[in-house]
Amino acid sequence: MEHPVIISGGGIIGCYVHLRLKQAGISSQIIEKGPSLTSLSSNIRTISLNPSTYKLLLEIGIELESASVETIKVSDGDGSGKIQFTANEVGEEALSHVAMFNDLLDKMQDLAKPAIQFESEITSISKLEELTKITLNNNSELKTSLLIGSDGRKSPVAQLSNFISKDNDYKQTAFTFLASEESDDNNSTAIQIFSDKGIFALMPIKHLDENMFSVVWSVPNELLKDTNKDNFVSENINAMTSKINSKITLESDIISFPLSNHHLDSYMKEGVVVVGDAAHSIHPLAGQGINLGFADADILCEEIIEAYKKGYSIGSHRVLKKYEIRRKSINEIMLKAMDGFIGLFGSSNIYIKVLRNLGLNIFNKISFMKVFFINHASGSHKL
Ligand SMILES: Cc1cc2nc3c(=O)[nH]c(=O)nc-3n(C[C@H](O)[C@H](O)[C@H](O)COP(=O)(O)OP(=O)(O)OC[C@H]3O[C@@H](n4cnc5c(N)ncnc54)[C@H](O)[C@@H]3O)c2cc1C
Repeated sequence: MEHPVIISGGGIIGCYVHLRLKQAGISSQIIEKGPSLTSLSSNIRTISLNPSTYKLLLEIGIELESASVETIKVSDGDGSGKIQFTANEVGEEALSHVAMFNDLLDKMQDLAKPAIQFESEITSISKLEELTKITLNNNSELKTSLLIGSDGRKSPVAQLSNFISKDNDYKQTAFTFLASEESDDNNSTAIQIFSDKGIFALMPIKHLDENMFSVVWSVPNELLKDTNKDNFVSENINAMTSKINSKITLESDIISFPLSNHHLDSYMKEGVVVVGDAAHSIHPLAGQGINLGFADADILCEEIIEAYKKGYSIGSHRVLKKYEIRRKSINEIMLKAMDGFIGLFGSSNIYIKVLRNLGLNIFNKISFMKVFFINHASGSHKL
């Protein structure tokens, strides 16, 4: 069977690519390893969407219940180094929109459902003259002009295409859970604290209650050697929340994720391309992972649609290379910036701490630098 485009991975990014191409009249088939829809799994994880991602979602008809983050406050453990970002500084209504991960995935998969073949995966890829041939785990064969890998970290499409991955294990584990807070503050401020107990991020959510928050807490693995996630959280949560002068209470199970990043040396070859977490993954501290994926998908779709309209081959080296050039260096900058941030805040060296805090307090007062930084993180810089 032949399809113009085959997408491996029906997560948020794979479904987005399908829906965006469909709007332009280009049909695609999605091959998804998992079973249909996630709504049966617990709805604990949140996702922070920057203004550019939010706009892309609206353009394909996805509206989400979300909390708007108008201020982000970042500080180190003892509060001497601080930086604050506000939506006002860049003339936006919000710096980000926090939604439930499963709500977004369910909506995307629901819209893309007629094109998704669930519980299937690609086992081999080979090149025919103009087309790429793939074999699935049920031994059926499909042919396509363009195979898109949006199949997440350790992407089978990247591996079967021999793209080389540079990996970095942070030796940290992220705990994520829902919490309530005793506070009369308005629910539009996100807080991030870098401390010797890890990076603690508190984000407002709209889903359940005015004073509900989502926590993502990245903890060095060495602190977890003699304890488990539940004990670690219950023993340390008061110490973290005393830094924000507020009492928060655990309101859900705790989900944990090992933390690492990776970046592929190449995003494409003739007839095959990768996007989102298939191409790169990043520390969750800045909530940028899916936003980089949406920015990739936006540019890839732009290039494919332009080629399609002009009658060029959509899987050609020329078309896919343009996408790689427009995205790879921007992603590299974001990955390096995130590692720099972790190194800077994670350091216990007194000289680094003093310089960092001095630098941050100065940076906090220079508005044009902050505006540049926020615009970069909000996805409004596009090559
Ligand atoms: C704790 C934590 C918090 C985070 N918070 C944020 C945040 O606030 N904001 C943000 O922007 N990002 C965040 N991220 C990152 C974000 O979740 C990811 O960047 C995003 O989910 C990647 O989407 P994706 O569609 O590219 O990949 P995935 O979500 O990994 O989807 C890949 C899909 O491919 C399927 N698949 C896998 N293998 C195969 C195969 N062999 N064949 C077919 N299908 C396959 C999978 O089942 C899945 O459906 C966070 C990550 C973590 C760990």
